[in-house]
Amino acid sequence: MTLDVPTLFVVVTTVTLLMAFWISMMAWGQPRGDALWALALSLIAYASSNVLFALRQLLPEHLMVLAGNMAYVGSLSLMLVALRRFRNAPVGRWRASLPVLLVPVLISPLIPDPRISSVSVNLLCVLQCGMMLSALYDRRYPMQGRGRIILFAAYSGMAGVLLLRAGAVYTGMIGVGTSAGGERWLALVFLLAMCAVLSIALGFVYMTMERAERLNYEMAMKDMLTGLSNRRAISEELAHAVARAQRQGALLSLLLIDIDHFKRVNDEYGHPAGDAVLQSVAHTLAERLRAQDQIGRFGGEEFIVVLPDTGLDGARILAEALREAIEATPATWGAHGIAVTISVGVRGGLIVGGDTRESLVAAADAALYRAKQGGRNRVEMAGAPVEPDAAAEPVTKAARA
Ligand code: GH3
Ligand code: MG
Ligand code: MG
Repeated sequence: MTLDVPTLFVVVTTVTLLMAFWISMMAWGQPRGDALWALALSLIAYASSNVLFALRQLLPEHLMVLAGNMAYVGSLSLMLVALRRFRNAPVGRWRASLPVLLVPVLISPLIPDPRISSVSVNLLCVLQCGMMLSALYDRRYPMQGRGRIILFAAYSGMAGVLLLRAGAVYTGMIGVGTSAGGERWLALVFLLAMCAVLSIALGFVYMTMERAERLNYEMAMKDMLTGLSNRRAISEELAHAVARAQRQGALLSLLLIDIDHFKRVNDEYGHPAGDAVLQSVAHTLAERLRAQDQIGRFGGEEFIVVLPDTGLDGARILAEALREAIEATPATWGAHGIAVTISVGVRGGLIVGGDTRESLVAAADAALYRAKQGGRNRVEMAGAPVEPDAAAEPVTKAARA
């Protein structure tokens, strides 16, 4: 089998431009700052670098090699921009352009040995690959996301090939220049480049799909104003917690929280101020919960807290702590500090066979009603709680409510 270099050159350049076109189609309608636009530009820069290198036989060689290297380094810079945009951590314009501006310094009379110039440009590209790998790395989920795994493999492979090339040039195994190393080396470079272009484009497509899935999930399960679980999500979590507690004969407590006289906040300061209060209350509540506890926005100014493995006493202590924290933490609204209080209905203890999500919420709601009746800014327990030692006698719903 012979690998014809001019054919490979045409194939790689065409495939790269085609990928740039399809990625632009995906980015169509997105703002100019979207990651996919930067990726499309990066692919165009890469295709241009190939064309510029190919033109060195027709046009002044030094100029074409310089321009080709600048386009290649620029394509890596744009790829880093794309990756960072995916993580909402954009790269500054100067930081993105710096590697490109370094190329004319590295390929200049300042460095008279062309071997050192070539090795330096290669190492600069390895450094860029390293920056992309570090932009991809997420300490919390090191191996999550198919797109990220594909990109990890692609950039690691690229860094490896570039390092090998730098080593080969430095030790004199191959000469300087893109065609150095002969036809076979060049054919191999083009083949690897095509693998890299296809893998990178596919990796970004996967990342885009995964981002859309994540956004959809968040829109379906998160409350947009407070960032907490929405009613649907917290209801599902509660149903799971009830089923688990029933299976294991475990404790489970529930807090139903309602902001007192919230209508007055809206009336006095306006609806946006009311929204700010809701956000502040949500933040204060969420901040004081343990890792295993779940909180959600149940309705307008009502929140629900699910406390697994927690008996009535523990739930009462937590509810009091939350009530005090809200009282002591006014929301900031312009120059105002808007103080609110909450009333809390607690249903805590052992879960028995007849308990359901609805019966638990109804019991907590009845307790909340009593807290409101009792003057607000207080915590009330659902009647006749069942603690483990009293569990022998099943308690009816009516008794609790
Ligand atoms: P109570 O102490 O009896 O609970 O009095 P309250 O004023 O809090 O009573 P109520 O539950 O009737 O009022 C809730 C108000 O919450 C009514 C509604 O306009 C307001 N509200 C519901 N959702 C939102 C929201 O997303 N933003 C804002 N700003 N207000 C909301
Ligand atoms: Mg209220
Ligand atoms: Mg209410």
